[in-house]
Amino acid sequence: MHCSDSRTALSARVDGEALPPGVAGAALDAHVRGCIDCRRWEHQVVALRKWITSIDSGSH
Ligand SMILES: [Zn+2]
Repeated sequence: MHCSDSRTALSARVDGEALPPGVAGAALDAHVRGCIDCRRWEHQVVALRKWITSIDSGSH
């Protein structure tokens, strides 16, 4: 799996969307475990997502 494919799939998963066709969750996890760059990238996406969610929930 290439990092670009991994990151597309991670972004979808963080957003609660289906993984792109041809990307298995197990293969994605295996790539992220072995790829520090994608791990960092996932953390950034998750942090950004939490931040956006906290803004949304604070506006009610
Ligand atoms: Zn990677």
